[in-house]
Amino acid sequence: MHGSKILEEADRLMTVCNSCRYCEGLCAVFPAMEMRRSFSDGDLNYFANLCHSCGACYTDCQFSPPHEFNVNVPKTLAIARAESYAAYAWPRAFSGAFARNGLAISIIAALSVAAFIFGFAAFNDRQVLFGIHTGPGAFYALMPHNAMAALFGAAFLYAIVALVMGVRAFWRDIGEPIGMLADPPSLWQAMKDAGELRYLDGGGVGCVNEDERPTDRRKIFHHLTFYGFALCFAATCVATLYHFLLAREAPYAWWDLPVVLGTLGGIGLLIGPAGLFAEKSKRDPALVDEKGAGMDTAFIAMLFLTSLTGIALLLLRDTAAMGPLLALHLGVVFSLFVTMPYGKFVHGIYRYVALVRYAKERRQAGHTV
Ligand code: SF4
Ligand code: SF4
Repeated sequence: MHGSKILEEADRLMTVCNSCRYCEGLCAVFPAMEMRRSFSDGDLNYFANLCHSCGACYTDCQFSPPHEFNVNVPKTLAIARAESYAAYAWPRAFSGAFARNGLAISIIAALSVAAFIFGFAAFNDRQVLFGIHTGPGAFYALMPHNAMAALFGAAFLYAIVALVMGVRAFWRDIGEPIGMLADPPSLWQAMKDAGELRYLDGGGVGCVNEDERPTDRRKIFHHLTFYGFALCFAATCVATLYHFLLAREAPYAWWDLPVVLGTLGGIGLLIGPAGLFAEKSKRDPALVDEKGAGMDTAFIAMLFLTSLTGIALLLLRDTAAMGPLLALHLGVVFSLFVTMPYGKFVHGIYRYVALVRYAKERRQAGHTV
């Protein structure tokens, strides 16, 4: 007996696959499955988060619908994966945010943007809000740096704590002692596998999307999104160091490191999410968890809007539009931070942790990873 219907179905499929083993070269899920004879809830959640949803095992399967065995691994693992996000949410009271995620994130984003706009209007008179501010410290004419740092630092800290607690719950569920996470070779191997999206390639030929012809488009757009996000995060870190260590205040010149990193990251975060959305809207419905569409779209939209408002702020920061655009950008970024533990962002974290476990158990079993 399993904890949910979808885990019962995942068990049935893995039992069929464990007899067949035709797909063992496609990704990490099948080799991980082959190391087991029976599957606990934690094992199935581990497989679900190890799956990159490339779709190859559906098109390659001789037992996929309309065969009576009805084997659909990508869809089943996608549903199990989404349910696992809610099960690991911290605090548990917020796990319901995953049920109608698109709506929940839209409401939080709208409230956050509205709060910044009304806050800016309430604490600044009209001349300041619509005035032209240039040079170092220009942003802080509208919101003091200390208030900005305290608010965003608290939101970021909260997101980190909630994500760490989620990882703890996942790690416990998949039956591993917490100390195993400190295994450096496995952490490094998982970092390489995640960094190159090794298992989003259908065993080397590419991902299937709208038809059976494999393509690398989803992988490329994922890379642009991930590295775009990483560059934007690096830009924020460098700017924070500039402020506190060098006493250099934002905004910076276009050639300065935070702006260069942020602009490159911003371009990635425009093209990547737009491409992922285009691919998603064409994807064969047989491969996806339809209920998860809102969560996927909300996360893609949040990343896109973060970049769009950031680039608009960069381009128009010397004009009277700077005040309203700063409120808009801060509102979007704040809502992105506070919703990170309750949306699609967690897929990257749990998938990385699943890859750590995979690397560890492969090495323990004497296989090359
Ligand atoms: S997905 Fe189909 S072909 Fe692949 S291992 Fe499972 S049963 Fe075999
Ligand atoms: S969809 Fe791709 S990653 Fe997921 S189990 Fe099938 S082959 Fe592996």
